[in-house]
Formats: sequence, C-alpha cells, structure tokens
Amino acid sequence: MKSILCAKKILVLAVIAPLLISACDKKEKVSESGNETTSISVASTPSISPDDFIADANKKLDAATLENNSAQWVYETYINDDSGLLAAKSNERFLTLQKELLAEARDYQTLPMSAATAKAFTNLTKGKELLPPDNAADIAELANLGTKMSGIYGSAKYCKGDKTEKNCRDLTALSAVMSTSRNYDELLDAWTGWHSISPAYRKDYERYIALANSGAKAYGFNDLGASWRSGYDMPAADFELEVERLWNQVEPLYKSLQCKVRSDLSKHYGADKVPLDKPIPAHLLGDMWSQQWSDIYDLVEPYPGAGKLDITGALVKQKKDAVQIAKIAENFFVSLGLQKLPDSFWQKSMLTKPRDREVECHASAWSMDAKNDVRIKECIQPNETEFLTIHHELGHVYYFLAYNNLPFLFQNGAHDGFHEAIGDTIMLSITPDYLTKVGLLDKTAASNEHAVINQQMRMALDKIAFLPFGKLIDQWRWKVYSGEIKPEDYNKSWWQLRTQYQGIAAPVARSESDFDAGAKYHIAANVPYTRYFLAHILQFQFHKALCDAAGFKGPLYQCSIYDNKAAGEKLQTLLAAGASQPWQDTLEAAIGTRKMDASAILEYFAPLSAWLNEQNKHQACGW
Ligand SMILES: [Zn+2]
Repeated sequence: MKSILCAKKILVLAVIAPLLISACDKKEKVSESGNETTSISVASTPSISPDDFIADANKKLDAATLENNSAQWVYETYINDDSGLLAAKSNERFLTLQKELLAEARDYQTLPMSAATAKAFTNLTKGKELLPPDNAADIAELANLGTKMSGIYGSAKYCKGDKTEKNCRDLTALSAVMSTSRNYDELLDAWTGWHSISPAYRKDYERYIALANSGAKAYGFNDLGASWRSGYDMPAADFELEVERLWNQVEPLYKSLQCKVRSDLSKHYGADKVPLDKPIPAHLLGDMWSQQWSDIYDLVEPYPGAGKLDITGALVKQKKDAVQIAKIAENFFVSLGLQKLPDSFWQKSMLTKPRDREVECHASAWSMDAKNDVRIKECIQPNETEFLTIHHELGHVYYFLAYNNLPFLFQNGAHDGFHEAIGDTIMLSITPDYLTKVGLLDKTAASNEHAVINQQMRMALDKIAFLPFGKLIDQWRWKVYSGEIKPEDYNKSWWQLRTQYQGIAAPVARSESDFDAGAKYHIAANVPYTRYFLAHILQFQFHKALCDAAGFKGPLYQCSIYDNKAAGEKLQTLLAAGASQPWQDTLEAAIGTRKMDASAILEYFAPLSAWLNEQNKHQACGW
C-alpha cells in the first residue's frame, strides 16, 4: 500500500495557530506560508490583565476567522480575478490583526499569569515561522524576497534549447520522469535540469535569512531557527536532542533499507553506476529529492506479484463516486464511536473537480468558523492515492471537531507533528483484513508471508526512506539561521548532511555556484519541516497505543482499530485537548507516556527488518 506524505499548508497564518490545515500529496507541495509583516511597537506597560488580553484576542480572532476563511474558500474553489482580490484584501486585514496581537503580547512577557493563560500566550508567540523585523524597510524587503523566491520556484522551468514551450518542462513534468523513467541518463537530465533553477535565488535566500533573523531577534530569539524550535513546550536545545534521539532509534532500519535498495539498483544500473560501497546517486530513487522511494518499487519488489492490494481496481470496478469514497473514510471514524460528519460537510465540501471553472485541487481540510462548519476540498478520483488522501484529510477534520469547543488559541494540534499524524494513524489500520471487511478486497490471500514482506517494503520505501530527509532539512536550516553554516558553504554543507543521513550523493560534481537545497519547495517558501519527521514517528506510536486499547494481540502490522470503541475513546482524548496544554500532558493523558518514541515503528516493520538483515548478510552496508 502506498503511503501519503502530507504537507501541512497554513494559509495566511504566519504568526498564529492555523485553522486551515491542508493536505497532502506524496511529493509534498505546500502552497504558501505568509510572510507579509508590518511594524510592531516596543514593549510598554499593558493596560489590561493577561487574562483579559487573551480573552479579547480569542474573540477578535474568532470573529475575523470566518470572514477570512470564506474569502479563501471562495477563491480556491472559484478562481478568478475578483475572488482573488477579495481573498487578498481579507488576508491583509487578518494579518494586520495578527501583527497587532503579537506586538501587544510582548508587553506581557514578564507578568505573572495562570498556566492556561501562559499556554495561550505560548501559542500566540512561540514556534512562529516568521517574525517581523522592527524596521519598516526591512519588513517590506523581507516580504518581497519571500514572494520573489516562491515565485522563482513556482514558475521554474527547465528548458533545453530555446525557451519555447515545447523545449521546457516544469516540476510536474520533470517529476514524472523521476518516477517512471529507468534510464540513467534521462533521469540525470531531469535531476540536473530541476537543480539548475535554484541558483537564481541563492543570493536572495542569503539576504532573506539575515532579515528573518533580525525579526526573530526583535522577539527575543537568537535567530529564526530558535523561534521554530520554541514551539514544542520544552527548551529549544532539549528539542534538538529529542529529534536526535528519535533518529538514533530508527537509523539502523534505514541503513538496512538503503543497503538493500542500493544493491537492487546496482543490479539494474550496473556496479559502475551504483557502486556497492558508495552513497546512492540521488537521481535513481524515483523522486526529485530522494525523499520517498515507492515509485521504484518495481525495481526492489521482494517477491514479484505477491499480495498486491488493488484498491484502485476495486474502486473502479465498484464504480465508487467521490461521495461514496468519502463515506468509506467517514465510516471508519464513526466505527470508532466518533460523530457523523455534520450535514453541512456534505453540502459545502468540494469533493469533485467542477467542470465549469478553475479551482485549486490540492487537497485540504478546513475549519471555516472554528465550530461545526468543517469542509474538505479535494478532487477525488477513484484511485488508491485519493482514497488514502481523504482518510488523511478527515484526520484533520475530526481533530477540528474534537477541539471546537475550546477558545481559539487552543484550537490547534498538541504540536505541529500531531495534526499531520492523525489521518496517517488511521491509514495504518487499512489492512487487508479491513479492506476485506468493507468489501474492497475479496480475498485474504494478501496475508501470506511473501505478501507481508512485499507490502512492508512498499510502505517502507515511503515511511522509512523519508525519515532522514525529514530530519535533515531543518538540521541544515537551523545551522544556516544560527550562522554555523556560512553562506559560502550552503551547498557543501547540504551535501554533507544528505550523505551523512541519507547515504546518497549528487550524481554530478557540485559547487557553490549551485544551490541544491533551494530545489525543495520548503526552502523557497520558508516552511519548517521537522513536523513531518515527527508525524512519521508519532503515527506508529499512536497506532500501537490505540491497538493496545483495542486489546489487539498479534503483530502490530496486522492490527486495525476499525470498529473498536475503546480505541476511539483514546483517540478522542488525544484530539479533544487540542493545544490547551503542553503536548506532553496530552500524550500522557491519552496514551500514558510523556515522550515521543520510535519503538512502535520498529515493531511494525519487524518482519521487513528481519528479512532485510537476511538479505544484507553478505553485503558490506554503509557508505
Ligand atoms: Zn495534512
């Protein structure tokens, strides 16, 4: 089964908790991160109490949200100049409100307050993606650079010959080559082509970092990376150690996978192209960033043909339409004892692509009014990817519904990894047994030993392969923000980390005239990335805890919590707390531990892990 890696899109909300959280596609497109900023005032004595300030902030945000989300919704589901203008104006008003609140919040930094009020202040001020510099000219320059970099990335095309349309390919076209071609040189051309677009903003990026850091300093952070790390209810330095600890847990499994994949690629492309003692050339893994490898499953399938789960075939054969597919996903949550989706969800969501107008099809989940008006926007087709995506999106929607009685500033995930993990947790329960139960698979032959290894391999190519990539992006960026990585070493340091963590290498010589980190959207758009690493760990930890609650005995990969109310109760506890308390408290209340832990992901993949060890027995692994 393919897994969905999700990008969380935060519309407008550079400085405040998102109400609109969106989805995913396996190539991780995130559409925007607000970087408009305006001037803020210097700290002074506040005229009202911290409690009153937070109550007032909640009220203002609540009121502003419905109007702003309506404007954004109309724009994304009916794109034209008029809806675009209204959406932009509404964004501006909303951002102004956020900036005012952020500026005022500085006045309360040293005042005594209750734990709940302190948590609301934390949510308002910590973990921000971008903070406005004090100087108006700097703010304008920062906003312009942000728009420029995203613009360069978004419109980039790689052209061979003159720049007529037939000679040029965008990221979508180049990515299609990466996933389907098995020709070394053709892949190399697509890879180097896409990586030739980012040097155009390398100088801008350097300046952007300096300006973003000056904003972070204005709010008491050493640099913007410190602001990012401050959003986890623990000292930033401890958070870094946590990420490292989790990585150390999964590193041996990743290395086994890398070793086996390298050996299969070597067989296909030849040992001269893929030597068995060197990092894997970065363009051979089916993905522009070598971050998820399931598209080369055909090259590494352990037991050809065994246990294929043909979800797409079943959906097509049974003529399931978009609403029916969404109902299958809703039914999973309802089977756990969670509520049915409100009628308005079915009336107001956009589940199919309209024929008569432009829309943004990138799947997303919306809480319109921070209450019951929840929606999904997805152009559902009867295929496996869309089927899984709707489960992921409903994870966000059920999170929205679970915490919608909380004040606005508490309406968010326990931390940013939690929100992305929920739908994926449910997806781990889409087992062959479950599919049989709901009539999408008519035989259970899919559970013999070979079938299990095949299914685990396919999942691991996404879920395990992603882990080092999920970690290293911010590993690099934190050091760029702190100055530990100097601008003249951007590219060298990028490849050091890529090789160190992923065991991959650039397929052709690189220099500081390249800017390979910049070939990734989240660098251009300044979107933090560690959340995806955390979500990958957490979804398995959640899955195990829910399976335990369900009383499941047996190998973890076989567990489905479908139709189990005890598991549903635990899930509801996890969701309902929102961001009202430190995430450690929420985790403890729901699953009895205060720590994130990767042992569940290892337990889940135990069969594959043993198989890999056997396969690698005579290989010298490592690089
Ligand atoms: Zn998502």
